[in-house]
Amino acid sequence: MQIENKIDNQLNIGGVLKFSILDFPGKLSAVIFCQGCPNRCVYCHNPEFIPEKKKSTISFDEVLNILKTRQGLLDAVVFSGGEPLMQEGLYDALCAVKEMGFRIGIHTSGYYPEQLSDVINLIDWVGFDIKTVFNKYKIITQNDISGEMAEKSFEILLRSTISYEVRTTLDSRLITFEDLKQIAYMLKEKGVPKWVLQECILRAEGNAQKLNMISDEELKILNAIISVEIRKQ
Ligand code: SF4
Repeated sequence: MQIENKIDNQLNIGGVLKFSILDFPGKLSAVIFCQGCPNRCVYCHNPEFIPEKKKSTISFDEVLNILKTRQGLLDAVVFSGGEPLMQEGLYDALCAVKEMGFRIGIHTSGYYPEQLSDVINLIDWVGFDIKTVFNKYKIITQNDISGEMAEKSFEILLRSTISYEVRTTLDSRLITFEDLKQIAYMLKEKGVPKWVLQECILRAEGNAQKLNMISDEELKILNAIISVEIRKQ
């Protein structure tokens, strides 16, 4: 109980999804949304998890109790956000969840390379955002050093042996086809086997507007460089 109390103070949880088939490919998972993110992505789909100072909506102890009822039913627990690697209590939380027999996934923007190194041996799978070419990150994240940090984290991920997925959100206001081609060549050079392009849908006042700018012809060009999967929202 003491360790749970310590984690409670160092892990700000914004919410929990008790069941997901989308957040860890091929696995049934629960998702813990960590509160707080250093980036301010223009298209963020979880803006409620960006502020750092909001109090946890649920304690870690309560989360563990939920997970106990799902042992044997779920394969994995995914730490998402926000940015999970910003949480001081992440290491202990990962250990506690792993001890329960769950696989561990994290979704990250790569902003915290040192923290990624610290926990990488506990993780089974990473969903890694490549927002755009690294020297243009600020256009999307509104954060000066986000590209540099993401590049360092990406190198750490590639040097590890864990499974990962690299994904990029297709927002035609912020990323060009030339940017996509540059990313495709970079991924190929690094030996990344597959790249996920996520549809970007802007929802405002009951309207949904697709911001994808990729044509079939352009998709063919990218697919000739690296295997691309289009993920619909
Ligand atoms: S890194 Fe992710 S959680 Fe943070 S602002 Fe960007 S999209 Fe939102």
